Amino acid sequence: MEPLSFVDHEKFFDCVHCGLCLASCPTYVELGTEMDSPRGRIVMLRALQEGQAQLNDEVVQHLDLCLGCRACETACPSGVQYGELIEGARPFIEQHYRRPVLERGKRWLMNKTFPNPWGAWLFALSLKVGAALGLARFAHSEAVPATLRYWFGLLPERGSVSSQPLLDHYPAIGEKRRTVAVLSGCVMSAVFGATNQSTVKVLRHNGCEVLIPKAQSCCGALLLHNGEKQTALALAKRNIDVFDQLDLDALIINAAGCGAMMKEYGELFKDDPVYRDKAARLTGKMKDAAEFVGGLELRTPTREVRVKATYHDACHLAHGQGVRDQPRALLRAIPGLRMTNLPESDWCCGSAGTYNLTQPEMAARLLERKVGNIQATEADVVVTGNPGCLMQIQAGLRQSGLPMKAVHTMDLLALAYEDEPGSSH
Ligand code: SF4
Ligand code: SF4
Repeated sequence: MEPLSFVDHEKFFDCVHCGLCLASCPTYVELGTEMDSPRGRIVMLRALQEGQAQLNDEVVQHLDLCLGCRACETACPSGVQYGELIEGARPFIEQHYRRPVLERGKRWLMNKTFPNPWGAWLFALSLKVGAALGLARFAHSEAVPATLRYWFGLLPERGSVSSQPLLDHYPAIGEKRRTVAVLSGCVMSAVFGATNQSTVKVLRHNGCEVLIPKAQSCCGALLLHNGEKQTALALAKRNIDVFDQLDLDALIINAAGCGAMMKEYGELFKDDPVYRDKAARLTGKMKDAAEFVGGLELRTPTREVRVKATYHDACHLAHGQGVRDQPRALLRAIPGLRMTNLPESDWCCGSAGTYNLTQPEMAARLLERKVGNIQATEADVVVTGNPGCLMQIQAGLRQSGLPMKAVHTMDLLALAYEDEPGSSH
């Protein structure tokens, strides 16, 4: 077979096959098979690149089952950049492997939906219609195929999808300290509009003037994850052009998956003579919302929020961006809030971009494990920083009949600040 060159070959040799990552890999722990471990996948990827293995159904299935959660990177003492290896392989899989027709249709639909503003609004509309029709009740119906049952179970509660758009500009509240822009995001703006409003409110209360340029686009993360690299790069270029021309102290991102991808813009464009400098400059300004606010001298929130909260680390925040302490510190600063530790807090919930749509069986297994851990905390709310985790975990809690709510860090923090005339809330 013709060798495929999809990643710097030297990077494979960082892996010394020690196996110290195995216990951190959700798919290995669930299945116990070497080919579903980071070490096994690295061997497979290297064999593919060297032309020693065929891109057949079995190999693709093992690679598709990888969540891309990067827990293995956190665990690896040799600094293996596993995310780069698997993300490098995804476009080659899409180019060289012919998927079954239904699978191709599903991926085509996802790739057309999310990066397009109208697609994201249609997605939001379908969630609203599904919720209004009460399709979630079929999540337990034996008459419905298992995959559809799982998808119906993901539908949000009626009234919980918020598409409220942001304005172009918000002044700082009190003395101005920073000028920032916010990535409004495709899924965030169509489904989690209220969380975008909360993010703006928290930033304003902490002395930030907030800009929301309307010409921005989807970050490209879901496309890159699905192997559609060229389209993802085109979206990234548009964002670089839009945000780089603003005089910003920071570009704020409140979706962990988007933040992890955007912080890679510098690396993705390092060989592009036109975008290299602009991408590197902008990457240095990118901050997750909790990372940024946690790095400011916090203006003390004054409203009490009397809840017992636990925190779930989104993979792309904890493993992808190394942001773990700041969200917890922000939550502890909320008057009246009590924190309790979540066992396996950085274990993937099964959402993983569009993984819960492409690999529903494994996603459901991981969700069950996550919900069991959340239930053990007896918390009122589980807090996290990624829209996919919010939807996945909320669905799991509802299906298990638990009264707990999944909320974004910015939503809980925003509750602790006073509403002001002319503010976003
Ligand atoms: S990825 Fe890292 S931890 Fe895992 S086997 Fe290779 S060197 Fe060891
Ligand atoms: S990214 Fe996650 S699922 Fe994939 S090999 Fe690493 S730990 Fe396992």
